[in-house]
Amino acid sequence: MNLKEAYSILISDLKKAGYLKSDNITSALYAVSRWDFLPAELKQLSTMDEPIPLGFGQTTSAPHMVAIMLELLDLREGQNILEIGTGSGWNTALLAELVGPKGSVTTIEFIEELQDSAKNSLEDYFNVGCIHGDGKKGYEPNAPYDRIIVTCAAKEEIPKALEDQLKDGGIIVIPIGSIIMQELVKGTKRGKWIEKENCGLCKFVPLV
Ligand code: SAH
Repeated sequence: MNLKEAYSILISDLKKAGYLKSDNITSALYAVSRWDFLPAELKQLSTMDEPIPLGFGQTTSAPHMVAIMLELLDLREGQNILEIGTGSGWNTALLAELVGPKGSVTTIEFIEELQDSAKNSLEDYFNVGCIHGDGKKGYEPNAPYDRIIVTCAAKEEIPKALEDQLKDGGIIVIPIGSIIMQELVKGTKRGKWIEKENCGLCKFVPLV
């Protein structure tokens, strides 16, 4: 079996398991191969539903977790998105496919080497801006955002800057909790408040 066939099986398994529901997310997963975003020696692992090490103590999320987060975000074409934790850039490319050429994705990565390599992998996406910096501060120049996705775990609460940079009615998806285990939280902005919904346990590297 080649990588392409194995990747199709992974996508249909995500559907069967109920992680993947929407047609637009399924199309994005077919459009953006995970192996394009992995280091050469790890591409063979790209079709496994497992997190994969990226170096520097970081990992790229398992495909089922990516599907869960993208489904919670309820993404539409033309939206303005902020992602914290670019990592491999795979999730960034999926976001860019989902919002299309009229939308835009700002992605922030703390580790310069990862940011450099993701920037290379994402060079064909004109609707993506890669920023090196601390995602806890958000990125004010492109705010407000329709959606914010955080792919590393906050200890106790949603960082204030991210709440402020979210549009009214906008959605943030963020893991919150200890280094061992976190709750995946979906927050919807209602005026000054964020209405929070717990969406299950998860395990992410920490937001530093
Ligand atoms: N979405 C990525 C996940 C990478 S893991 C992927 O699937 O490949 C989470 C990433 O968040 C790591 O690369 C880590 O360096 C980054 N990170 C952690 N704290 C951060 C912060 N404060 N600001 C920006 N990036 C951060």
